[in-house]
This record gives sequence, C-alpha cells and structure tokens, in this order.
Amino acid sequence: MVPRFCVQCGQMLHERLLPGDHRARRVCPACGYVAYENAKPCAGVLPTQDGQVLLARRAVEPYFGRWDIIGGFMEHDETPEEAALREANEETGLTLALDGLLGVYHDVYGSSGYSTLNVYYIARIVAGAPRPYDDVSELAWFPQDKLPTEMAFPHHIHQVLADWSRWIRRSANH
Ligand SMILES: [Zn+2]
Repeated sequence: MVPRFCVQCGQMLHERLLPGDHRARRVCPACGYVAYENAKPCAGVLPTQDGQVLLARRAVEPYFGRWDIIGGFMEHDETPEEAALREANEETGLTLALDGLLGVYHDVYGSSGYSTLNVYYIARIVAGAPRPYDDVSELAWFPQDKLPTEMAFPHHIHQVLADWSRWIRRSANH
C-alpha cells in the first residue's frame, strides 16, 4: 500500500531516489518526509500437545472462515513474545508458555497490499481450556497428517505448518 500524501503536512508525495538509497521512495517536496514502507510485525503461537497443533478459524476478513495460526499484530511497545502470548490469550482464553521460536515468515495481508513479518513460537498450555474469543469463531486440534488444506494466508502458512511438522518429528525422536 503506497501512501499518496504526506502524513505530516498533507502534500502530495513524489517518487525520488534519495542519495545513498538503493530504491525510490515517496518523498514530501514540502517538508522532506520520506514514506518508508516496511512489513508490519505480527506474532503468533502454535500451541502443541500430544503431537497436535491448536488452530483458529477466522471470524474476520481477510480469509473469513479459514483456519489460521493464533496470533495478530504487535503493538509498538511490546516484544514479539509478549504479543504472541497476549494474542493467544485474547483469542483462546489460554495462558501459554513459549517453548521456542519456530521461524519468521513474510506475507501480504489479504488484498490490502501491505506486507507482514510473522514471528511464530511453539507453545504449551499452562492454564485454561481453549475457547474462541475475539476475531476467532472456532478452535480445534490438528495432527500433522490431518492439517486443514484451506488455510488463511496461504503464501506463508503452509511453510509454517511444514516447519511445525518437522519440529514435531524432531522432538518425538528425543
Ligand atoms: Zn510533508
């Protein structure tokens, strides 16, 4: 999503290659503001129990009704770990503990055009029973050989679940 107007003074932005930069940016001719475009950071969890992962069915667009990884957008003043645990609690009511970083994945957020950087953790339940809240309509456990095929955010989620399956097999061998 390329901004057209300056957020500081409202002038129309112009595309310019700034000295020392490697790609053109939208720059304000009046105040010099540069509209850098960065991926929005998101954090999430794969709660894992008896070789199964807890997934959430989305009750919001984009990808309404599709299965998704539990998580959401990070606030500016929280760490990825804090965001992952907060989002998990908001969407499931669960208190979780993180067991390690699964990976970091880039994607595009629906048709909005802006991109996301998704930080995902393996997690385990410390307290509570999963119940859907917030922007989630249903929660369910899936084993690695019966993962849903119609997933939200298909650009990165299949890779996440493949990495999770590898993590499950590795931890089963120890
Ligand atoms: Zn400006």
